[in-house]
Amino acid sequence: MLNNARACQTCGATIPAFTTAYTLRLQLFAEGGEIHITPDDLAEDHERRLLELYREAECADPQEMMDEVFESYTLTICERCRHEFHDHFMQFLKSLKDTI
Ligand SMILES: [Zn+2]
Repeated sequence: MLNNARACQTCGATIPAFTTAYTLRLQLFAEGGEIHITPDDLAEDHERRLLELYREAECADPQEMMDEVFESYTLTICERCRHEFHDHFMQFLKSLKDTI
């Protein structure tokens, strides 16, 4: 690859030096919502349940556990991929537009 050229991280195309590259940042994280406690929750054996959770956590992959609540990606992409992402996002967002 030529000096200062970059590779598009989605299609692999070379982004020549002095050509605009784009940065795509994507973050996916768990939503912290209200907690609803039911009578069944109160009747549960909390000490036993905590021990189960500790045992599950001991055997789990820390990265997988982290990914369940937060993932972050930063990609360098070419102009063609930027257009594809843009068109895809606009199609997706259009369907979510609020009606007034
Ligand atoms: Zn590309």
